[in-house]
Parts: sequence; structure tokens; C-alpha cells
Amino acid sequence: MEYQVALETSQLLDEAKKSILFTAARPELVMERGEGMYLWDTDGKRYLDFVGGWAVTCLGHSPEIIREALNRQAGTLINSSPSFYNKPMIELASLLTGNSCFDRVFFASSGAEANEGAIKLARKHGQKNLGGAFEIITTTNSFHGRTLAMMSATGKQQWESLFSPKVPGFKHVPLNDIEACLEAINPNTCAIMLELIQGEGGVHTVDAEYLNRLRKVCDDLGLMLIFDEIQTGLGRTGKLFAYEHYGIEADVMTLGKGIGGGFPLSALLVKEPYNIFEPGDQGGTYSGQPLAMAVGFAVVNEIINKELSYQAEEQGNYLMNSLREIAHSYQLKQLRGKGLLLAFDLPEARGTELVSECLKDGLLINSPNSSTVRLMPPLIVSKDEIDNMLQILCGVLDRLHIS
Ligand SMILES: *Cc1c(COP(=O)(O)O)cnc(C)c1O
Repeated sequence: MEYQVALETSQLLDEAKKSILFTAARPELVMERGEGMYLWDTDGKRYLDFVGGWAVTCLGHSPEIIREALNRQAGTLINSSPSFYNKPMIELASLLTGNSCFDRVFFASSGAEANEGAIKLARKHGQKNLGGAFEIITTTNSFHGRTLAMMSATGKQQWESLFSPKVPGFKHVPLNDIEACLEAINPNTCAIMLELIQGEGGVHTVDAEYLNRLRKVCDDLGLMLIFDEIQTGLGRTGKLFAYEHYGIEADVMTLGKGIGGGFPLSALLVKEPYNIFEPGDQGGTYSGQPLAMAVGFAVVNEIINKELSYQAEEQGNYLMNSLREIAHSYQLKQLRGKGLLLAFDLPEARGTELVSECLKDGLLINSPNSSTVRLMPPLIVSKDEIDNMLQILCGVLDRLHIS
């Protein structure tokens, strides 16, 4: 019988450095196991996870409900090709349309891919209904993904000259500046796309009045309004979808991250008037893949049935209040966000250092830019775990003399 001796962590790291394409400086550890709010590395060290794979593992790590859905579906049907309907695909689509203001769903595997679909649909709308208009207005400081077109859509300064030439047809305007948006609109404009809370940009929330004006402008000019709810969707902000905070509906919405609870899954949701793709316009090998659909159904169903958006609101309030209590001692500024998508600014631009010191103390937090800390734990986080996180965080802030 063949068997493999478990590799020591140092051997694993040597092998990783030889065989993994370098795209990021990763810490000197290898993650091995996850359960609930915790991850363990190959040395058995435990980490309290307030990143959740970037707002992905909304039900925590390896929850029973996902393992059960995977097992059941894997024993029934893993892949039937996108040419056919399958049962979990239909179930997940009706669960999403039944619990949102949208009528139709297209499934993909990553957020960027769902957004690509939204942009294609916007250009189709431009061709069909707006005399060939093709330009999409997005916001500076936004994040929409890493495909070439989504890098163009993303309003990130560091990306401006990366991998040029960029996909043309995107204009960036500052969030919450209605005049700038009105000025950018021209006969070539077919759509406006934005996040309701800019996640990667540092947790900046859209104003209700601004959003209201965008909706009116889009209605008046026949432009498509697209909400990228890949980070804000599915309970994270204290509502099932962030648009519910505003009572303002988009024509098109994209979901990703939390929808699969860690399994690669994303969705493009569309209102009936924009059900305008023709055969051949849009597709994908893994669109509606049964395994992903079964997981998505289990995850979304759990979020709805267990009222996890309410849980996110309650625990988010507790986390925010706890942060307020320590904010003065450590000079933490601009406490912001909704539900369990929160952030604050440090008195010094030492976010990277803070993140790596927290890692040493067994806590995962995120720093989307050098002076901002972002917290986006699984929606199942408890008050004890929040207290625990703050205790580790304060210890590290003390040690680094950040205050
Ligand atoms: C993460 C994210 C994306 C990209 O999703 P991927 O799955 O990484 O392609 C797009 N938009 C927003 C708002 C995101 O947070």
C-alpha cells in the first residue's frame, strides 16, 4: 500500500516557494483546517478569523450544511453541462428571485465573471435600445474584480497603467458626487455601476440622496443601473441585500463571495425588461454547475431561515459599540460600515504591520490600505468571539505603541 508521510511545515514552504507562481507575499505558514470562526495551520496554531476569506465564509469554516450539500449532490450529479437545466440550478434561481426584487438569474463562478456579465448586458442594452451607447460609469476607489475588463471598471489608481492597453468604455467619477456623475453622462453612456458600500476601497457607504438621484437619472435617460453587491450581499450589512437599506432597486445586481460560503459561485440578477441576451451572447462551462448550485441553495436558504442578516445587524452593533469604547484610547478614527462590514482608520499608516502582528497572536484582520483596518467576520460570530478579537487587537496596538 502506498502512503505519504506528512510533510513538515518547513518542507511544505520550500515546496510552495518553488512551485507556486508568485503573485503575493504570503506569511510563512500553511493553512490546513477550518471550523466555525477558526482556522488552524499545519503546526496546529489556531487563528480567530475576522476576514472570512474576504467576506466569503459567511457560515464559518466547513459548516455541516455545506458539507452535507456537497456530499448529497456529489453522489447524485456533479456536472451535467450548461446546455441543460438541472434541479439545484432551478431551486437556487427561484430562491434568489423569490427573495429579491429581481426576476432572472445567470450563474457563474467568480465575482468578476458575474460583473463581466453585467457589463455585457449593459452594452447589449446600449446596442439594442440606446443607439449603440457602450460607456459605463463607475466610481473612483471602487473594486469590481480582476479580469481585464473589470480592472478597467475598477477605480483603483494603482491599476491605471497596469496591463495596458485597458478595455475601453469606462469612466470613473467620485462616489456621492452627483454633479460629477451628471457631467460624465453623454450620448455614449449606457449604464452606471457601483457598490453600495465600497468594500476593498475601505468601507465607504453610498448616500441615500445620491443613490436616489442616480435611480432618477437612469430612469429619465433609460440607463441601466447596476449594483455590485458581491461584498455587501446576502446578509452581511444587516439586510439580505444592501439595497434594502435604501429602498432603491437596481436593474441588475451581482452577487458573489458569501453566496457560496467558500465554494466558487457568483450570480447576475436581472429585472425582466433586461432579459435581453440572445443565444450565444453569454455562457460558461460552469454556469449552473450542480455542485455549486446545491451549495448555493443550502447557504442562501440557511441565511434566510436562520435570519442571519438580523444576526449580522445585532453582532455588528455590538462590534461597533465595542470599537467605540476603545477608539479614544487608541486614536481610532472614522469608525464606519454597516452590519458585519466595518472599518476604522489608524492614527498612523501602519496597517500592514498591525495585520502581521495580529497574525502572530492568532487573529486574522484585514487592512485594505495602509491606514485602514477592515473587519468582516462570518455572520455566525458570537459576542464572546468579538470580545476575544478586541482583546487580541488591543494587546497588539499596545505592543506597537499605536495610540
Ligand atoms: C471581491 C469583489 C469582486 C470580485 O470578486 P472575485 O470573486 O474575486 O472575482 C467584485 N466586486 C466586489 C464589490 C468585490 O468585493
